[in-house]
Amino acid sequence: MCGIVGYVGKKNATPFLLEGLKALEYRGYDSAGLYVAGAGMVKRAGKVAELASAVPKNFSGTMGIAHTRWATHGAPTEQNAHPHTDASGTIWLVHNGIIENHAELREPLAKSGVRFASETDTEVLTQLIGSLYKKDVLLEDAVAAALARVHGTYGIAVASSREPGKIVAARLGSPLLIGIGTEGYYLASDATPLLPHTREVMYLEDGELAVLTREGYVVKHLARGPVKKSIEHLEWSAEAAQKKGYEHFMLKEMMEIPEVIENALRGRLAHATGTAHLGGLRDVLPRLLLARRIVITGCGSAYYAGLVGELLIEEFAGIPVEVEIASELRYRPHTADVKETVLIAISQSGETLDTLEALRAAKRNGMLTLGIVNAVGSTIARETDAGVYNHAGPEISVASTKGFISQLTVLALIALLLGRERGLSKSEGKKIVEELAKLPEKARRILAKRESIAVIAKKYAKIRDAFYLGRKFECPVAYEGAIKLKEIAYIHAEAYGAGEMKHGPIALIDSSFPSVVLAPKDSLYEKTKSNIQEIRARGGPIIALTTEGSEADIGKLADDLISVPAAPEALLPILTTIPLQLFAYYVAKERGLPIDQPRNLAKSVTVE
Ligand code: GLU
Repeated sequence: MCGIVGYVGKKNATPFLLEGLKALEYRGYDSAGLYVAGAGMVKRAGKVAELASAVPKNFSGTMGIAHTRWATHGAPTEQNAHPHTDASGTIWLVHNGIIENHAELREPLAKSGVRFASETDTEVLTQLIGSLYKKDVLLEDAVAAALARVHGTYGIAVASSREPGKIVAARLGSPLLIGIGTEGYYLASDATPLLPHTREVMYLEDGELAVLTREGYVVKHLARGPVKKSIEHLEWSAEAAQKKGYEHFMLKEMMEIPEVIENALRGRLAHATGTAHLGGLRDVLPRLLLARRIVITGCGSAYYAGLVGELLIEEFAGIPVEVEIASELRYRPHTADVKETVLIAISQSGETLDTLEALRAAKRNGMLTLGIVNAVGSTIARETDAGVYNHAGPEISVASTKGFISQLTVLALIALLLGRERGLSKSEGKKIVEELAKLPEKARRILAKRESIAVIAKKYAKIRDAFYLGRKFECPVAYEGAIKLKEIAYIHAEAYGAGEMKHGPIALIDSSFPSVVLAPKDSLYEKTKSNIQEIRARGGPIIALTTEGSEADIGKLADDLISVPAAPEALLPILTTIPLQLFAYYVAKERGLPIDQPRNLAKSVTVE
């Protein structure tokens, strides 16, 4: 998920490796390291600058690999930083992604006497390659044999002190490209580090393995054999390369949503039994199942994710849930029986101060505490009793998009697990599992239609106010839609359960005050339609969001219409949120605002 660079050629590799890691810093990371043939390995927890100052002056060689890590398995320590080496100290490997079956692969290796130096999934792959790298075997063959046994995602670069002029690179799900320079070959996980050196690049595709030497490179597909690759000329500036060519990180991160849902679901869906496997909750499950009450807490979007979680857990598992903003919860007395109450703290960064303090207060009172956190090894991840990681990758844009969607996905998995343990039938569970598995594709279809949302956004770019309305599962989606518009487009937006309008807010409606109404074909569809009628009767413009199949029906009531693929209502927020994020994005763009860094806001709020 984070960064890789490599070099083999005529020059000293070290300067490029360190510069390359610096160029990848924008992605966010927690530790870094490098290996240079003939010189050795240096790793550090923390910043690339610390690594650079730890590298000795004469640290040189003509081949090397380097990495910035964004921890997924094991805390962000020096031990867990990459490169990893095998038991014999011959192989050096850097990896982006997740080896899902690391536990299965680790066991026989450990039995055969391999001593592991880290907690990472990556070291398991390194040791596996090491065990297959017998005397007459070539590095690329050992790597290919090991990868045949791996489930998961990877972009890897592998070096061996036995074959010092060679880098073996392979990809499945995590990007890698090769830069063709006049003085050697470069490897990187995105184009940014390559740009000062070359603009001639070759992208590896999933399933491909490349062998790079000073003389050239060969690429083969692991299943299909040799492939002929074409070379592309990069026109991008360094800044455009960081954003994969998208204009803003926010758009790039929204475009990653399908992949982020896949990452949250990967290895966690039990199709046969209709439940979720959540390794991080296994140890606390007996106590979790005693819960008579669950309290979910978070700040901002994480709090809104919690509101969806509340409905999901109540619907699937029948456990009463309360959701409270962390800055409020931390000052409230805990009155309920704490032994039967479970706290779920949601934080993308894992460092949100109010959430952390609410969690600490709950812990002091003896509650079981769980975390839904994206940043592995962060304070909240460490201080909770157990939890589920998002694996959504770094989020750079201040306004959360993929992070929020990932939180909803993880909450659905937790609700499903609790449900199946508490009476949700196997067939209902199986249906939910099937529907969860379909979400990435559906999200892809929504994103493919983003230009049509841009057109609508253009029309409303000059508004001063907006309502966001929805009922039941769509009510928290309305809150999230409104906060997006506020934070990046600086437009006053208020969200309500649609049924609340007539109890006050509707007094504001006139022809200059549009309402974004979430009206998918769910159990409250007809009620929501009536709410739309009430607004129309007062001259309020309507932007309606519905599900495919209901366009004609809702279209009659709306000035503008957006539709998303249908899904069971409990899972729909994962889809209906996406157009609202896109809408806010395009409105902000039309208004010429600094989308990735909105005024007055910070990404990770570590103050009260
Ligand atoms: N899963 C690996 C680890 O935790 C790789 C993380 C990354 O992509 O940076 O070490």
